[in-house]
Amino acid sequence: FKQLDLPEKSSDELYVMGETFNEMINLLQSNYEKQEQFVSNASHELKTPLTVIESYSSLLKRRGRQDAELFDESIEAIHSEAVRMKDLTQQLLVLAKHDEYWNADITDIELGAFLQESVRAFEKAYKRRVEVFVEEDLIVLADAQKLKQLLYIFMDNARKYSEEEVQVEAYREKDQAYIHITDYGIGISKDDLVRVFDRFYRVDKARTRKSGGFGLGLALARDLAQVMDAELHLHSEEKAGTKATIKLPLSQ
Ligand code: ADP
Repeated sequence: FKQLDLPEKSSDELYVMGETFNEMINLLQSNYEKQEQFVSNASHELKTPLTVIESYSSLLKRRGRQDAELFDESIEAIHSEAVRMKDLTQQLLVLAKHDEYWNADITDIELGAFLQESVRAFEKAYKRRVEVFVEEDLIVLADAQKLKQLLYIFMDNARKYSEEEVQVEAYREKDQAYIHITDYGIGISKDDLVRVFDRFYRVDKARTRKSGGFGLGLALARDLAQVMDAELHLHSEEKAGTKATIKLPLSQ
């Protein structure tokens, strides 16, 4: 993309048009670079599990029949990397924004029952305790499927980056409902906090690879919130913990 060389600044129409054109070129360029970065990150993330699958399957081919221990280890590794790849492609598909998916289906949701149900399912899946405090008769306007996914992303992070119990709390303030998901875990530094909503951003790549993250959860959360007109805030202090807030409109 090439910008126009503009003559000395003036207020005539041609100059203003030239300036607008250059701004458009700038925007195109930065979108293009972001897209390129996204594809390159995604390919890299897919390549890692594929490399593991490739090397274990070739080991299996050579020695799998004779060596029962190697057989078990290889199958385990191949399976877990395949699951990771499936999770990643699923997240990538959602982020690639299928129009159908991104049409919000906004309905009245009674937050008490909704949170209890989402939390119980989460507790069962991860064997982690989540304490819930919800004000009565809180009815919000939201897309149920997207809200569930949003809660899940924050609860999953709270679980991954803390050892203690996770707390979910909801209450009303003026014409809004607030949902907080709080953990008392490792927290996020100020410098990282401004970047964690970026796609593929992870604070500690080595550690998060073990815990299974790709750095896409919060990027997805931001997009989900946007289509529902929800607001998100992340409050965090290193070594103290993190509080995520979802702000939703109340139904009349
Ligand atoms: P991931 O799948 O890696 O968790 P996210 O986009 O959800 O990706 O989060 C980005 C990064 O932000 C994480 O890798 C982690 O380093 C940091 N992070 C997110 N939530 C928390 C939390 N509750 N406590 C500490 N760190 C967190």
